Amino acid sequence: MNIQTTRLLRWISDEELQITLVCGSSDRSYPRSATPVQLPGCIAEASFVLVPEILACGAEKVLIDVDSCNCEKTDEGDAGAGSDGESAAGLGDTGVRDRFAAWRGLLGDAVAEFEGDEPRFRKAEVISAEDPPVSRRALFGLGAGSSLPIDPTLSDDERLLKALDALGIPADRANEFAPPPQAAPLVADGCIACGVCVAACPTGSLELQTINEGAAEQTTLVHDRISCVSAGECIKLCPETALSLSQPLSWTNVAQGRVALTTFETTKCRKCGAMYPRDGQDLCPTCRRKADNPFGYWLPPGFERKNRG
Ligand code: SF4
Repeated sequence: MNIQTTRLLRWISDEELQITLVCGSSDRSYPRSATPVQLPGCIAEASFVLVPEILACGAEKVLIDVDSCNCEKTDEGDAGAGSDGESAAGLGDTGVRDRFAAWRGLLGDAVAEFEGDEPRFRKAEVISAEDPPVSRRALFGLGAGSSLPIDPTLSDDERLLKALDALGIPADRANEFAPPPQAAPLVADGCIACGVCVAACPTGSLELQTINEGAAEQTTLVHDRISCVSAGECIKLCPETALSLSQPLSWTNVAQGRVALTTFETTKCRKCGAMYPRDGQDLCPTCRRKADNPFGYWLPPGFERKNRG
Protein backbone atom coordinates (compact mmCIF):
# COMPACT_ATOMS: atom_id res chain seq x y z
CA MET A 1 0.00 0.00 0.00
CA ASN A 2 1.25 3.48 -0.77
CA ILE A 3 1.10 6.59 1.37
CA GLN A 4 -1.74 8.07 -0.71
CA THR A 5 -4.02 5.10 0.00
CA THR A 6 -3.22 5.43 3.68
CA ARG A 7 -4.34 9.08 3.55
CA LEU A 8 -7.58 8.04 1.83
CA LEU A 9 -8.29 5.42 4.48
CA ARG A 10 -7.49 7.85 7.30
CA TRP A 11 -9.92 10.36 5.83
CA ILE A 12 -12.69 7.75 5.48
CA SER A 13 -11.98 6.38 8.93
CA ASP A 14 -12.27 9.89 10.38
CA GLU A 15 -15.41 10.90 8.50
CA GLU A 16 -17.27 7.55 8.09
CA LEU A 17 -18.56 8.56 4.70
CA GLN A 18 -20.49 7.07 1.85
CA ILE A 19 -18.23 7.60 -1.16
CA THR A 20 -18.41 7.08 -4.90
CA LEU A 21 -15.31 5.63 -6.58
CA VAL A 22 -14.64 7.18 -9.96
CA CYS A 23 -12.28 5.98 -12.69
CA GLY A 24 -9.10 8.01 -13.18
CA SER A 25 -10.09 8.57 -16.80
CA SER A 26 -13.45 10.16 -15.93
CA ASP A 27 -14.41 13.77 -16.60
CA ARG A 28 -17.98 13.47 -15.28
CA SER A 29 -19.66 15.76 -12.76
CA TYR A 30 -21.46 14.54 -9.66
CA PRO A 31 -24.11 15.74 -7.22
CA ARG A 32 -22.76 16.81 -3.85
CA SER A 33 -24.39 13.84 -2.12
CA ALA A 34 -22.16 11.45 -4.10
CA THR A 35 -18.80 12.40 -2.49
CA PRO A 36 -16.88 11.36 -5.64
CA VAL A 37 -13.35 10.05 -5.12
CA GLN A 38 -11.27 9.72 -8.27
CA LEU A 39 -8.68 6.96 -8.34
CA PRO A 40 -5.28 7.63 -9.92
CA GLY A 41 -5.92 4.87 -12.47
CA CYS A 42 -8.69 2.66 -13.76
CA ILE A 43 -11.14 1.11 -11.29
CA ALA A 44 -10.56 -2.24 -13.01
CA GLU A 45 -6.89 -2.08 -12.05
CA ALA A 46 -7.34 -0.91 -8.45
CA SER A 47 -6.16 -3.34 -5.81
CA PHE A 48 -9.01 -5.72 -4.95
CA VAL A 49 -8.49 -5.04 -1.26
CA LEU A 50 -9.32 -1.33 -1.68
CA VAL A 51 -13.11 -1.57 -1.30
CA PRO A 52 -13.15 -4.17 1.53
CA GLU A 53 -10.57 -2.03 3.31
CA ILE A 54 -12.57 1.18 2.84
CA LEU A 55 -15.61 -0.54 4.39
CA ALA A 56 -13.52 -2.01 7.21
CA CYS A 57 -12.27 1.52 7.92
CA GLY A 58 -15.82 2.64 8.61
CA ALA A 59 -17.31 3.80 5.30
CA GLU A 60 -21.09 3.45 5.32
CA LYS A 61 -21.24 2.33 1.72
CA VAL A 62 -19.11 2.37 -1.43
CA LEU A 63 -20.73 3.29 -4.71
CA ILE A 64 -18.87 2.48 -7.93
CA ASP A 65 -19.46 4.65 -10.98
CA VAL A 66 -19.10 1.90 -13.52
CA ASP A 67 -19.92 4.25 -16.39
CA SER A 68 -17.14 6.68 -15.46
CA CYS A 69 -14.50 4.56 -17.18
CA ASN A 70 -13.13 5.96 -20.43
CA CYS A 71 -10.08 3.69 -20.38
CA GLU A 72 -9.21 1.64 -23.42
CA LYS A 73 -12.10 3.06 -25.36
CA THR A 74 -12.74 1.10 -28.50
CA ASP A 75 -10.56 2.23 -31.35
CA GLU A 76 -11.93 4.64 -33.96
CA GLY A 77 -13.27 1.85 -36.12
CA ASP A 78 -15.24 0.33 -33.27
CA ALA A 79 -16.26 3.61 -31.71
CA GLY A 80 -18.85 4.34 -34.35
CA ALA A 81 -19.76 0.76 -35.05
CA GLY A 82 -22.79 0.31 -32.86
CA SER A 83 -25.99 2.21 -32.54
CA ASP A 84 -27.07 0.54 -29.33
CA GLY A 85 -24.66 2.51 -27.18
CA GLU A 86 -22.53 -0.50 -26.21
CA SER A 87 -19.56 0.57 -28.30
CA ALA A 88 -19.40 3.90 -26.47
CA ALA A 89 -18.89 2.05 -23.19
CA GLY A 90 -15.47 0.95 -24.37
CA LEU A 91 -13.39 -2.12 -23.53
CA GLY A 92 -12.34 -0.75 -20.16
CA ASP A 93 -15.96 -0.79 -19.07
CA THR A 94 -15.99 -4.59 -19.13
CA GLY A 95 -13.11 -4.76 -16.65
CA VAL A 96 -14.80 -2.25 -14.35
CA ARG A 97 -18.09 -4.17 -14.48
CA ASP A 98 -16.29 -7.42 -13.67
CA ARG A 99 -14.47 -5.79 -10.75
CA PHE A 100 -17.73 -4.23 -9.50
CA ALA A 101 -19.51 -7.61 -9.74
CA ALA A 102 -16.72 -9.26 -7.71
CA TRP A 103 -16.82 -6.58 -4.97
CA ARG A 104 -20.61 -6.74 -4.88
CA GLY A 105 -20.61 -10.55 -4.76
CA LEU A 106 -18.19 -10.58 -1.84
CA LEU A 107 -19.46 -7.56 0.09
CA GLY A 108 -23.17 -7.54 -0.74
CA ASP A 109 -25.28 -4.41 -0.35
CA ALA A 110 -22.38 -2.43 1.12
CA VAL A 111 -21.30 -1.95 -2.51
CA ALA A 112 -23.64 -0.57 -5.15
CA GLU A 113 -23.52 0.99 -8.58
CA PHE A 114 -23.70 4.79 -8.72
CA GLU A 115 -26.81 5.70 -10.66
CA GLY A 116 -27.15 9.45 -10.17
CA ASP A 117 -27.40 11.93 -13.00
CA GLU A 118 -24.87 14.61 -13.76
CA PRO A 119 -26.10 17.77 -12.00
CA ARG A 120 -26.48 21.04 -13.84
CA PHE A 121 -25.88 23.11 -10.73
CA ARG A 122 -24.19 22.58 -7.38
CA LYS A 123 -21.63 20.08 -8.61
CA ALA A 124 -19.53 18.20 -6.10
CA GLU A 125 -15.81 18.73 -5.91
CA VAL A 126 -14.20 15.53 -7.23
CA ILE A 127 -11.71 14.46 -4.57
CA SER A 128 -8.43 12.93 -5.63
CA ALA A 129 -7.86 9.59 -3.90
CA GLU A 130 -4.22 10.62 -3.63
CA ASP A 131 -4.99 13.89 -1.87
CA PRO A 132 -8.18 13.65 0.21
CA PRO A 133 -8.99 16.46 2.67
CA VAL A 134 -7.76 14.52 5.66
CA SER A 135 -7.68 16.57 8.83
CA ARG A 136 -4.39 17.16 10.61
CA ARG A 137 -5.62 15.34 13.69
CA ALA A 138 -6.56 12.27 11.61
CA LEU A 139 -3.30 12.45 9.66
CA PHE A 140 -1.30 12.31 12.87
CA GLY A 141 -3.51 9.67 14.47
CA LEU A 142 -5.16 11.98 16.99
CA GLY A 143 -8.84 11.78 16.00
CA ALA A 144 -11.29 9.29 17.45
CA GLY A 145 -11.48 7.25 14.26
CA SER A 146 -8.05 8.03 12.92
CA SER A 147 -6.10 4.96 13.90
CA LEU A 148 -6.59 2.55 11.04
CA PRO A 149 -8.12 -0.80 12.01
CA ILE A 150 -5.81 -2.57 9.54
CA ASP A 151 -2.05 -2.09 9.51
CA PRO A 152 -1.37 -0.44 6.11
CA THR A 153 2.11 -1.97 5.90
CA LEU A 154 0.77 -5.53 5.61
CA SER A 155 0.57 -7.36 2.29
CA ASP A 156 -2.58 -7.13 0.15
CA ASP A 157 -3.53 -10.72 1.08
CA GLU A 158 -3.11 -10.05 4.77
CA ARG A 159 -5.13 -6.84 4.62
CA LEU A 160 -7.93 -8.53 2.65
CA LEU A 161 -8.24 -11.28 5.27
CA LYS A 162 -8.23 -8.71 8.08
CA ALA A 163 -10.83 -6.59 6.29
CA LEU A 164 -13.09 -9.61 5.79
CA ASP A 165 -12.65 -10.54 9.43
CA ALA A 166 -13.57 -6.99 10.50
CA LEU A 167 -16.66 -7.13 8.28
CA GLY A 168 -17.70 -10.57 9.59
CA ILE A 169 -17.27 -12.26 6.20
CA PRO A 170 -15.75 -15.79 6.23
CA ALA A 171 -12.45 -16.07 4.32
CA ASP A 172 -13.76 -18.89 2.12
CA ARG A 173 -16.21 -16.44 0.51
CA ALA A 174 -13.18 -14.88 -1.16
CA ASN A 175 -12.55 -18.10 -3.13
CA GLU A 176 -15.46 -17.17 -5.37
CA PHE A 177 -14.83 -13.48 -5.92
CA ALA A 178 -11.30 -12.31 -5.06
CA PRO A 179 -8.21 -12.81 -7.23
CA PRO A 180 -6.21 -15.89 -6.15
CA PRO A 181 -3.97 -15.39 -3.11
CA GLN A 182 -0.31 -14.59 -3.63
CA ALA A 183 1.10 -17.15 -1.20
CA ALA A 184 3.26 -19.90 -2.68
CA PRO A 185 1.87 -23.43 -2.20
CA LEU A 186 5.16 -24.65 -0.69
CA VAL A 187 5.93 -28.26 0.14
CA ALA A 188 9.19 -29.45 1.70
CA ASP A 189 11.00 -32.76 1.38
CA GLY A 190 14.60 -33.35 2.43
CA CYS A 191 15.05 -30.20 4.54
CA ILE A 192 18.24 -30.15 6.64
CA ALA A 193 17.32 -27.09 8.75
CA CYS A 194 20.18 -25.03 7.33
CA GLY A 195 18.16 -21.78 7.55
CA VAL A 196 19.07 -20.44 4.10
CA CYS A 197 15.43 -20.01 3.07
CA VAL A 198 14.59 -18.38 6.41
CA ALA A 199 17.36 -15.80 5.92
CA ALA A 200 16.52 -15.25 2.25
CA CYS A 201 12.75 -14.73 2.52
CA PRO A 202 12.06 -10.99 2.03
CA THR A 203 8.82 -11.10 4.04
CA GLY A 204 10.04 -13.27 6.91
CA SER A 205 7.45 -15.90 6.04
CA LEU A 206 9.60 -18.93 6.88
CA GLU A 207 10.79 -19.95 10.32
CA LEU A 208 12.63 -22.92 11.83
CA GLN A 209 11.18 -23.84 15.21
CA THR A 210 12.97 -26.29 17.48
CA ILE A 211 11.40 -27.81 20.55
CA ASN A 212 13.24 -29.89 23.12
CA GLU A 213 11.49 -32.73 24.86
CA GLY A 214 14.04 -34.43 27.09
CA ALA A 215 16.82 -35.78 24.90
CA ALA A 216 14.69 -35.58 21.75
CA GLU A 217 14.65 -32.41 19.68
CA GLN A 218 12.25 -31.71 16.89
CA THR A 219 12.61 -29.02 14.26
CA THR A 220 9.73 -27.76 12.15
CA LEU A 221 9.96 -25.56 9.08
CA VAL A 222 6.96 -23.22 9.37
CA HIS A 223 5.47 -21.28 6.46
CA ASP A 224 3.29 -18.22 7.04
CA ARG A 225 0.90 -18.29 4.10
CA ILE A 226 -0.64 -14.94 4.94
CA SER A 227 2.52 -12.86 4.68
CA CYS A 228 4.08 -14.89 1.82
CA VAL A 229 4.17 -13.00 -1.48
CA SER A 230 5.65 -15.83 -3.60
CA ALA A 231 9.01 -14.13 -4.00
CA GLY A 232 10.49 -17.56 -4.75
CA GLU A 233 13.91 -16.92 -3.14
CA CYS A 234 13.47 -19.94 -0.86
CA ILE A 235 13.00 -22.38 -3.74
CA LYS A 236 15.80 -20.79 -5.74
CA LEU A 237 18.37 -20.82 -2.95
CA CYS A 238 17.67 -24.02 -0.99
CA PRO A 239 20.94 -26.00 -1.24
CA GLU A 240 19.04 -29.28 -0.88
CA THR A 241 16.32 -28.41 -3.44
CA ALA A 242 13.96 -29.40 -0.64
CA LEU A 243 11.27 -26.84 -1.50
CA SER A 244 8.84 -27.05 -4.40
CA LEU A 245 5.31 -25.93 -5.30
CA SER A 246 2.12 -27.99 -5.07
CA GLN A 247 -1.43 -27.15 -6.12
CA PRO A 248 -2.42 -23.44 -6.00
CA LEU A 249 -3.74 -22.34 -2.61
CA SER A 250 -7.29 -21.20 -1.96
CA TRP A 251 -8.22 -18.33 0.38
CA THR A 252 -9.36 -20.98 2.85
CA ASN A 253 -5.83 -22.46 2.83
CA VAL A 254 -4.24 -19.03 3.22
CA ALA A 255 -6.51 -18.11 6.13
CA GLN A 256 -4.95 -21.03 8.04
CA GLY A 257 -1.89 -18.79 8.40
CA ARG A 258 1.20 -20.57 9.66
CA VAL A 259 1.50 -24.20 8.61
CA ALA A 260 4.19 -26.82 9.25
CA LEU A 261 5.91 -27.81 6.01
CA THR A 262 8.01 -30.55 7.53
CA THR A 263 9.00 -31.79 11.00
CA PHE A 264 11.99 -33.99 11.78
CA GLU A 265 14.23 -35.01 14.65
CA THR A 266 17.29 -32.86 14.99
CA THR A 267 20.49 -32.67 16.98
CA LYS A 268 23.11 -30.01 17.63
CA CYS A 269 26.33 -29.86 15.59
CA ARG A 270 29.39 -30.46 17.76
CA LYS A 271 31.34 -27.76 15.92
CA CYS A 272 29.02 -24.87 14.99
CA GLY A 273 26.03 -25.55 17.23
CA ALA A 274 23.53 -25.52 14.33
CA MET A 275 20.58 -27.89 14.37
CA TYR A 276 20.52 -30.63 11.71
CA PRO A 277 18.54 -33.84 11.10
CA ARG A 278 19.72 -36.58 13.44
CA ASP A 279 21.73 -38.99 11.28
CA GLY A 280 24.16 -40.60 13.74
CA GLN A 281 27.02 -38.18 12.97
CA ASP A 282 28.24 -35.40 15.24
CA LEU A 283 28.84 -32.71 12.57
CA CYS A 284 26.10 -30.95 10.60
CA PRO A 285 26.08 -31.23 6.77
CA THR A 286 27.58 -27.73 6.49
CA CYS A 287 30.54 -28.50 8.72
CA ARG A 288 31.01 -31.82 6.97
CA ARG A 289 31.14 -30.07 3.60
CA LYS A 290 33.51 -27.44 4.96
CA ALA A 291 35.72 -30.19 6.37
CA ASP A 292 35.75 -31.88 2.96
CA ASN A 293 36.43 -28.60 1.12
CA PRO A 294 38.07 -26.13 3.55
CA PHE A 295 38.74 -23.42 0.92
CA GLY A 296 35.32 -23.40 -0.76
CA TYR A 297 31.87 -21.99 -0.05
CA TRP A 298 28.89 -24.27 -0.20
CA LEU A 299 26.12 -21.69 0.06
CA PRO A 300 24.29 -21.10 -3.24
CA PRO A 301 25.90 -18.33 -5.35
CA GLY A 302 22.71 -16.22 -5.37
CA PHE A 303 22.48 -16.24 -1.58
CA GLU A 304 26.14 -15.33 -1.22
CA ARG A 305 25.82 -12.34 -3.58
CA LYS A 306 22.62 -11.09 -1.95
CA ASN A 307 24.10 -11.05 1.51
CA ARG A 308 27.33 -9.45 0.49
CA GLY A 309 25.34 -6.53 -0.97
S1 SF4 B 1 16.92 -23.78 2.62
FE1 SF4 B 1 16.11 -25.84 2.21
S2 SF4 B 1 17.28 -27.19 3.58
FE2 SF4 B 1 17.63 -25.11 4.32
S3 SF4 B 1 16.02 -24.79 5.92
FE3 SF4 B 1 15.13 -24.04 3.98
S4 SF4 B 1 14.04 -25.84 3.11
FE4 SF4 B 1 15.42 -26.61 4.72
